Amino acid sequence: EHPGTPLLEVEGLGIRFGGLHAVRDVTASLPPERITAIIGPNGAGKSTFFNLISGFYAPTSGRIRFQGEDITRLKTHQVVGRGIARTFQTTTIYKELSVLDNAMIGHRVRTRSGLWDALLRTGREQRDERESRDGAMRALERVGLAGQAGRPAGALTQEGQKRVGIAMALSSDPRLLLLDEPAAGMNPEETVNLMGLIRELVGGGLTVALVEHKMSLVMGLADEIVVLHHGQKIAQGTPGEVSRDPAVIEAYLGG
Ligand code: ADP
Ligand code: MG
Repeated sequence: EHPGTPLLEVEGLGIRFGGLHAVRDVTASLPPERITAIIGPNGAGKSTFFNLISGFYAPTSGRIRFQGEDITRLKTHQVVGRGIARTFQTTTIYKELSVLDNAMIGHRVRTRSGLWDALLRTGREQRDERESRDGAMRALERVGLAGQAGRPAGALTQEGQKRVGIAMALSSDPRLLLLDEPAAGMNPEETVNLMGLIRELVGGGLTVALVEHKMSLVMGLADEIVVLHHGQKIAQGTPGEVSRDPAVIEAYLGG
Protein backbone atom coordinates (compact mmCIF):
# COMPACT_ATOMS: atom_id res chain seq x y z
CA GLU A 1 0.00 0.00 0.00
CA HIS A 2 1.14 3.52 -0.81
CA PRO A 3 0.24 6.40 1.46
CA GLY A 4 -1.99 9.24 0.28
CA THR A 5 -4.91 9.43 -2.11
CA PRO A 6 -4.48 7.98 -5.58
CA LEU A 7 -3.85 10.45 -8.39
CA LEU A 8 -6.07 8.54 -10.79
CA GLU A 9 -8.87 6.11 -10.00
CA VAL A 10 -10.92 4.07 -12.44
CA GLU A 11 -13.97 2.18 -11.33
CA GLY A 12 -15.79 -0.50 -13.32
CA LEU A 13 -14.24 0.88 -16.49
CA GLY A 14 -15.19 -0.81 -19.72
CA ILE A 15 -15.59 -0.39 -23.45
CA ARG A 16 -17.09 -2.66 -26.06
CA PHE A 17 -16.40 -2.74 -29.77
CA GLY A 18 -19.39 -4.64 -31.11
CA GLY A 19 -19.35 -7.91 -29.19
CA LEU A 20 -15.77 -7.52 -28.00
CA HIS A 21 -15.13 -6.27 -24.46
CA ALA A 22 -11.73 -4.68 -25.11
CA VAL A 23 -11.68 -3.42 -21.50
CA ARG A 24 -14.08 -4.96 -19.00
CA ASP A 25 -15.02 -3.80 -15.51
CA VAL A 26 -11.54 -2.58 -14.55
CA THR A 27 -11.16 -1.00 -11.12
CA ALA A 28 -7.67 0.28 -10.35
CA SER A 29 -5.82 3.28 -9.01
CA LEU A 30 -2.48 4.97 -9.62
CA PRO A 31 -0.49 6.15 -6.59
CA PRO A 32 1.05 9.62 -7.04
CA GLU A 33 4.74 10.00 -7.91
CA ARG A 34 5.13 6.31 -8.59
CA ILE A 35 5.61 4.15 -11.68
CA THR A 36 2.68 1.87 -12.43
CA ALA A 37 3.05 -0.64 -15.23
CA ILE A 38 0.05 -1.99 -17.12
CA ILE A 39 1.06 -5.37 -18.47
CA GLY A 40 -0.64 -8.25 -20.22
CA PRO A 41 -0.42 -10.32 -23.39
CA ASN A 42 -1.01 -8.80 -26.82
CA GLY A 43 -4.61 -7.74 -27.26
CA ALA A 44 -5.20 -7.64 -23.49
CA GLY A 45 -6.63 -4.11 -23.69
CA LYS A 46 -3.62 -2.08 -22.53
CA SER A 47 -3.63 0.55 -25.27
CA THR A 48 -7.42 0.74 -25.08
CA PHE A 49 -7.13 1.40 -21.34
CA PHE A 50 -4.87 4.39 -22.11
CA ASN A 51 -7.25 5.52 -24.86
CA LEU A 52 -10.04 5.57 -22.28
CA ILE A 53 -8.07 7.49 -19.66
CA SER A 54 -6.84 10.05 -22.19
CA GLY A 55 -10.31 10.67 -23.65
CA PHE A 56 -9.67 9.16 -27.09
CA TYR A 57 -12.43 6.63 -26.45
CA ALA A 58 -15.59 7.17 -24.43
CA PRO A 59 -16.18 4.28 -22.03
CA THR A 60 -19.38 2.26 -22.31
CA SER A 61 -19.32 1.76 -18.53
CA GLY A 62 -17.55 3.01 -15.43
CA ARG A 63 -15.89 6.18 -14.20
CA ILE A 64 -12.50 7.86 -14.25
CA ARG A 65 -11.42 10.26 -11.49
CA PHE A 66 -8.28 12.37 -11.63
CA GLN A 67 -7.19 14.39 -8.59
CA GLY A 68 -10.67 13.88 -7.21
CA GLU A 69 -12.45 15.20 -10.32
CA ASP A 70 -14.67 13.07 -12.54
CA ILE A 71 -13.08 13.22 -16.00
CA THR A 72 -15.02 10.31 -17.54
CA ARG A 73 -16.73 12.40 -20.23
CA LEU A 74 -13.99 14.92 -21.00
CA LYS A 75 -12.52 15.36 -24.49
CA THR A 76 -8.83 14.72 -25.17
CA HIS A 77 -7.75 18.38 -24.98
CA GLN A 78 -9.70 18.82 -21.75
CA VAL A 79 -7.98 15.76 -20.28
CA VAL A 80 -4.63 17.27 -21.27
CA GLY A 81 -5.69 20.53 -19.66
CA ARG A 82 -6.32 18.66 -16.40
CA GLY A 83 -2.75 17.32 -16.44
CA ILE A 84 -2.68 13.99 -18.27
CA ALA A 85 -0.41 13.55 -21.30
CA ARG A 86 0.46 10.48 -23.30
CA THR A 87 2.79 9.04 -25.89
CA PHE A 88 1.69 6.61 -28.59
CA GLN A 89 2.74 3.05 -29.32
CA THR A 90 3.99 4.11 -32.74
CA THR A 91 6.19 7.18 -32.94
CA THR A 92 4.37 10.27 -34.10
CA ILE A 93 7.20 12.74 -34.53
CA TYR A 94 7.80 14.92 -37.61
CA LYS A 95 11.21 13.81 -38.86
CA GLU A 96 11.83 16.78 -41.19
CA LEU A 97 11.11 19.34 -38.48
CA SER A 98 13.55 20.35 -35.79
CA VAL A 99 13.49 18.74 -32.37
CA LEU A 100 12.29 22.07 -30.93
CA ASP A 101 9.49 22.41 -33.51
CA ASN A 102 8.30 18.92 -32.64
CA ALA A 103 8.19 19.76 -28.95
CA MET A 104 6.38 23.03 -29.77
CA ILE A 105 3.79 21.16 -31.82
CA GLY A 106 3.34 18.93 -28.79
CA HIS A 107 2.70 22.01 -26.70
CA ARG A 108 0.25 23.53 -29.17
CA VAL A 109 -1.68 20.37 -29.96
CA ARG A 110 -2.15 19.83 -26.27
CA THR A 111 -3.02 23.34 -25.28
CA ARG A 112 -4.87 24.66 -28.33
CA SER A 113 -7.52 23.57 -30.73
CA GLY A 114 -5.71 20.98 -32.76
CA LEU A 115 -3.07 19.81 -35.14
CA TRP A 116 -3.91 22.09 -38.07
CA ASP A 117 -3.81 25.12 -35.89
CA ALA A 118 -0.52 23.89 -34.46
CA LEU A 119 1.00 23.37 -37.90
CA LEU A 120 -0.33 26.55 -39.49
CA ARG A 121 0.29 28.77 -36.49
CA THR A 122 -2.63 30.94 -37.51
CA GLY A 123 -4.08 33.77 -35.50
CA ARG A 124 -1.75 33.36 -32.56
CA GLU A 125 0.12 36.10 -30.85
CA GLN A 126 3.81 36.36 -30.19
CA ARG A 127 3.22 35.78 -26.51
CA ASP A 128 1.75 32.37 -27.31
CA GLU A 129 4.74 31.65 -29.50
CA ARG A 130 7.17 32.47 -26.70
CA GLU A 131 5.13 30.46 -24.20
CA SER A 132 5.17 27.43 -26.51
CA ARG A 133 8.89 27.80 -27.07
CA ASP A 134 9.62 28.06 -23.35
CA GLY A 135 7.40 25.07 -22.55
CA ALA A 136 9.01 23.06 -25.33
CA MET A 137 12.54 23.95 -24.22
CA ARG A 138 11.78 22.97 -20.63
CA ALA A 139 10.45 19.63 -21.89
CA LEU A 140 13.59 19.09 -24.01
CA GLU A 141 15.79 19.83 -20.98
CA ARG A 142 13.90 17.22 -18.96
CA VAL A 143 14.58 14.52 -21.56
CA GLY A 144 18.21 15.60 -22.13
CA LEU A 145 17.68 16.99 -25.63
CA ALA A 146 18.16 20.74 -25.07
CA GLY A 147 21.48 20.57 -26.90
CA GLN A 148 19.83 19.02 -29.97
CA ALA A 149 16.94 21.47 -30.26
CA GLY A 150 17.95 22.76 -33.72
CA ARG A 151 18.59 19.39 -35.35
CA PRO A 152 16.04 17.67 -37.58
CA ALA A 153 14.25 15.09 -35.42
CA GLY A 154 14.87 12.42 -38.06
CA ALA A 155 18.64 12.82 -37.61
CA LEU A 156 18.46 11.54 -34.03
CA THR A 157 18.93 7.91 -33.03
CA GLN A 158 15.93 5.70 -32.41
CA GLU A 159 16.33 6.41 -28.70
CA GLY A 160 16.60 10.15 -29.34
CA GLN A 161 13.41 10.09 -31.40
CA LYS A 162 11.63 8.31 -28.56
CA ARG A 163 12.79 11.09 -26.25
CA VAL A 164 11.34 13.66 -28.67
CA GLY A 165 8.02 11.85 -28.38
CA ILE A 166 8.23 12.03 -24.59
CA ALA A 167 9.16 15.73 -24.77
CA MET A 168 6.07 16.36 -26.92
CA ALA A 169 3.98 14.90 -24.10
CA LEU A 170 5.90 16.71 -21.35
CA SER A 171 5.55 20.10 -23.03
CA SER A 172 2.04 20.44 -21.59
CA ASP A 173 3.60 20.00 -18.13
CA PRO A 174 1.42 17.04 -17.08
CA ARG A 175 1.13 15.51 -13.60
CA LEU A 176 0.45 12.09 -15.10
CA LEU A 177 2.33 10.74 -18.10
CA LEU A 178 1.06 7.68 -19.97
CA LEU A 179 3.73 5.86 -21.97
CA ASP A 180 2.58 3.21 -24.45
CA GLU A 181 5.38 0.68 -24.99
CA PRO A 182 8.15 3.29 -24.73
CA ALA A 183 10.90 0.67 -25.08
CA ALA A 184 9.52 -0.93 -28.26
CA GLY A 185 12.31 -1.37 -30.79
CA MET A 186 15.04 -0.39 -28.33
CA ASN A 187 18.15 -2.43 -27.65
CA PRO A 188 19.03 -3.37 -24.04
CA GLU A 189 21.33 -0.37 -23.52
CA GLU A 190 18.76 2.11 -24.85
CA THR A 191 16.16 0.46 -22.66
CA VAL A 192 18.30 0.95 -19.57
CA ASN A 193 18.77 4.64 -20.48
CA LEU A 194 15.03 5.06 -20.93
CA MET A 195 14.35 3.50 -17.54
CA GLY A 196 16.82 5.96 -16.01
CA LEU A 197 14.98 8.84 -17.65
CA ILE A 198 11.61 7.62 -16.37
CA ARG A 199 13.01 7.31 -12.83
CA GLU A 200 14.39 10.87 -13.06
CA LEU A 201 11.03 12.25 -14.18
CA VAL A 202 9.26 10.50 -11.31
CA GLY A 203 11.94 11.76 -8.91
CA GLY A 204 10.97 15.25 -10.07
CA GLY A 205 7.33 14.73 -9.06
CA LEU A 206 5.75 13.18 -12.15
CA THR A 207 3.47 10.14 -11.96
CA VAL A 208 4.01 7.60 -14.73
CA ALA A 209 1.86 4.79 -16.04
CA LEU A 210 3.41 2.67 -18.74
CA VAL A 211 2.15 -0.11 -20.92
CA GLU A 212 4.48 -2.95 -21.63
CA HIS A 213 3.94 -6.50 -22.80
CA LYS A 214 7.43 -7.68 -21.83
CA MET A 215 7.12 -8.57 -18.16
CA SER A 216 10.89 -8.77 -17.57
CA LEU A 217 11.28 -5.14 -18.58
CA VAL A 218 8.98 -3.66 -15.97
CA MET A 219 10.07 -5.83 -13.06
CA GLY A 220 13.00 -3.60 -12.14
CA LEU A 221 11.18 -0.34 -12.82
CA ALA A 222 7.58 -0.45 -11.67
CA ASP A 223 6.46 0.24 -8.11
CA GLU A 224 3.07 -1.22 -8.90
CA ILE A 225 1.83 -3.51 -11.66
CA VAL A 226 -1.68 -3.93 -13.03
CA VAL A 227 -2.16 -7.07 -15.10
CA LEU A 228 -4.81 -7.15 -17.83
CA HIS A 229 -5.96 -10.27 -19.62
CA HIS A 230 -8.80 -10.38 -22.16
CA GLY A 231 -9.69 -6.83 -21.05
CA GLN A 232 -10.02 -7.70 -17.38
CA LYS A 233 -7.76 -6.93 -14.44
CA ILE A 234 -6.49 -10.25 -13.14
CA ALA A 235 -3.92 -8.94 -10.64
CA GLN A 236 -2.47 -5.80 -9.09
CA GLY A 237 0.50 -5.52 -6.74
CA THR A 238 4.24 -5.11 -6.46
CA PRO A 239 6.42 -6.81 -9.08
CA GLY A 240 7.18 -9.58 -6.59
CA GLU A 241 3.53 -10.18 -5.79
CA VAL A 242 2.41 -10.15 -9.39
CA SER A 243 5.17 -12.44 -10.65
CA ARG A 244 4.18 -15.10 -8.08
CA ASP A 245 0.48 -14.84 -8.89
CA PRO A 246 -0.82 -18.10 -10.40
CA ALA A 247 -3.41 -16.27 -12.55
CA VAL A 248 -0.65 -14.11 -14.05
CA ILE A 249 1.63 -17.06 -14.74
CA GLU A 250 -1.31 -18.86 -16.37
CA ALA A 251 -2.17 -15.84 -18.54
CA TYR A 252 1.39 -15.57 -19.84
CA LEU A 253 2.08 -19.25 -20.29
CA GLY A 254 -1.42 -20.34 -21.24
CA GLY A 255 -1.87 -17.49 -23.76
P1 ADP B 1 -3.00 -4.29 -26.27
O1 ADP B 1 -2.56 -2.85 -26.29
O2 ADP B 1 -3.07 -4.84 -24.87
O3 ADP B 1 -2.16 -5.16 -27.15
P2 ADP B 1 -5.43 -3.23 -27.42
O4 ADP B 1 -5.94 -2.38 -26.32
O5 ADP B 1 -4.76 -2.54 -28.55
O6 ADP B 1 -4.49 -4.38 -26.83
O7 ADP B 1 -6.63 -4.07 -28.02
C1 ADP B 1 -7.50 -4.84 -27.21
C2 ADP B 1 -8.54 -5.47 -28.08
O8 ADP B 1 -9.46 -4.47 -28.54
C3 ADP B 1 -7.99 -6.15 -29.32
O9 ADP B 1 -8.75 -7.29 -29.58
C4 ADP B 1 -8.19 -5.10 -30.39
O10 ADP B 1 -8.31 -5.69 -31.65
C5 ADP B 1 -9.49 -4.45 -29.95
N1 ADP B 1 -9.62 -3.04 -30.36
C6 ADP B 1 -8.84 -2.01 -29.95
N2 ADP B 1 -9.23 -0.85 -30.49
C7 ADP B 1 -10.30 -1.16 -31.27
C8 ADP B 1 -11.20 -0.39 -32.10
N3 ADP B 1 -11.04 0.94 -32.24
N4 ADP B 1 -12.18 -1.04 -32.75
C9 ADP B 1 -12.34 -2.38 -32.62
N5 ADP B 1 -11.56 -3.15 -31.85
C10 ADP B 1 -10.55 -2.56 -31.19
MG1 MG C 1 -1.04 -1.87 -27.29
